[in-house]
Amino acid sequence: MRILLFRADGVIQPWVDEFAAVMPQVETVVWREGEPHAPCDYAVLWAPTPALLEQLAHVKAVFLMGAGVDALLRFGGALPDVPIIRLGDAGMGMQMAEYVAHAVLRYFRRFDEYEQLARRNEWKPLPAFDKREFAVGVMGMGKLALPVIDTLRHFGFPVRAWSRSHKQLDGVACFAGAQQLDDFLRGARVLVCMLPLTADTARLLDRQRLSLLAQGACLINVSRGAIVDEHDLLALVRSGHVAGATLDVFAGEPLPAGHPFWQEPRISITPHISALTLRPEAVRQIAAKIEALEQGQPVDDVVDRNRGY
Ligand code: NAP
Repeated sequence: MRILLFRADGVIQPWVDEFAAVMPQVETVVWREGEPHAPCDYAVLWAPTPALLEQLAHVKAVFLMGAGVDALLRFGGALPDVPIIRLGDAGMGMQMAEYVAHAVLRYFRRFDEYEQLARRNEWKPLPAFDKREFAVGVMGMGKLALPVIDTLRHFGFPVRAWSRSHKQLDGVACFAGAQQLDDFLRGARVLVCMLPLTADTARLLDRQRLSLLAQGACLINVSRGAIVDEHDLLALVRSGHVAGATLDVFAGEPLPAGHPFWQEPRISITPHISALTLRPEAVRQIAAKIEALEQGQPVDDVVDRNRGY
């Protein structure tokens, strides 16, 4: 069996080594534009170029080295008709839980404000927030959102969650579909965006929807930047309606040097690191799925192109 490997960032040798360790019987072929390649059974890639698409028509399935699929689905009809399989959690859920819990606790315990006070050598206890009034709204109830929801519940936050299809989760106020979005947003003191970027979610969080959040609410975005209208968010942060934002993802990455977010002290920025692909977990998961496919069994995390995730 041959597996075609590609990463747009060129950091491919560690993947070759990992596959050699986990699937020693398999030959890996690194795809390089313009070079001839032996036919492969599967492709494992991240952020492909248009030139690679042709090659994908000949594989049994395409595996992604991440959980998001927007960078591949943007090719639309140019994509060959083979199953696309993304990573399902593979160690990313725990990282998301760490990141989101840290940000929510920072707002709830006012650590960011204490940091400012300490810098000014000020000893000044601030009134504590009432947890019962500090509801966290999680957008998305997928593989990465569920550990986040569990962790927030563990800390005793009232949790509400919104998904496309109706769900029931113990102790969580569940909302679904466009018709329940406004009600979901109205009750949130912190909004956590964990949605995939699709035609339905692009710029979903614009001025009108963000204005439905409680006065002084905070936003945490760990999924895709283009789901938030950045111009509208900045205006709402400057007006004080949104008290703070913790952003790991942006409409354009890397965030350009002159972007006004850099200058806004109420916006915290990290460089798309909230959940990194853990190579050993990823390769083990892909190997197990290839084995299942070879035995004619179904696998999880097959992307639905019509839904866009
Ligand atoms: P997932 O398992 O596919 O879950 C997606 C969730 O979003 C589902 O609950 C789905 O609802 C909901 N959803 C999708 N479209 C919706 C809509 N139009 N309205 C309401 N709900 C909608 O995805 P995941 O594995 O949790 O990953 C989520 C995203 O995280 C990825 O797509 C990726 O963009 C991002 N990500 C970011 C990083 C990072 O480092 N920043 C790392 C990994 C992933 P249903 O349950 O009803 O289908």
